[in-house]
Amino acid sequence: MSKQGSILYLDGITVSFDGFKALNNLSLIIGEGEMRAIIGPNGAGKTTMMDVITGKTRPDAGDALFSGDIDLLKRDEADIARLGIGRKFQRPSVFESHTVWDNIELSLAGHRGVVESLFHKLSAREKARIEEVLDTVGLASQASRLAAYLSHGQKQWLEIGMLLAQEPKLLLVDEPVAGMTDDETAETAKLLKKIAKEKAVVVVEHDMSFVRELGVKVTVLHEGSVLAEGSLDTVSADSRVIEVYLGR
Ligand code: ADP
Ligand code: MG
Repeated sequence: MSKQGSILYLDGITVSFDGFKALNNLSLIIGEGEMRAIIGPNGAGKTTMMDVITGKTRPDAGDALFSGDIDLLKRDEADIARLGIGRKFQRPSVFESHTVWDNIELSLAGHRGVVESLFHKLSAREKARIEEVLDTVGLASQASRLAAYLSHGQKQWLEIGMLLAQEPKLLLVDEPVAGMTDDETAETAKLLKKIAKEKAVVVVEHDMSFVRELGVKVTVLHEGSVLAEGSLDTVSADSRVIEVYLGR
């Protein structure tokens, strides 16, 4: 696959921290509407890769293109978010003292300030959109609860809903099921598969049964580059992958 038809195109990305290469000539292409799982040992560079895509870290070398021709390395973090790249960090960061509904409303508003948007009268379209997002993430019945009272899994879903409200074209999700119960993990796989019908999704995760449930192409990162790529069965049978990651 080339730049054309890709939502994300990384080529030769290198990031050094005091001479240590966190990313070392990393090349990765995600297709329009594709969901990809990224696995690899701690320190492989998974989070640094997301930092580069979202403009938080500037690489020393390489190209990063969005939608085939938008140069991400010339944009700042706010720009990149506006272009349609949403990022879910590992720890949930919802507004605990607001209701589930208001959390979604706040991120829908996006550009409005918190106070302004809570007093802003919602249009029928905005209301319908909030309902749709809550429905997608399975929190419609929790709309009027304070976010503080949600379970860990529900908070993660709420945060995914807050990202969806901003209608990203590409969603980056870093270790979404860490700390979740088995049931919540299974629900999260379902949710991401549903989301991936409409947008591209890159998921970093260690939980192999969850990755299996996603049923998508897997990229294995090791020491800042791609070690292997293919179906989970293919990469799991790769002796290098077993040695650096699965076999430990
Ligand atoms: P992963 O998410 O795959 O566990 P990271 O991308 O967080 O890996 O880290 C890759 C490597 O880069 C690690 O060795 C980490 O210690 C190092 N690293 C990440 N960020 C920084 C930083 N800001 N300064 C120095 N080293 C860093
Ligand atoms: Mg990480």
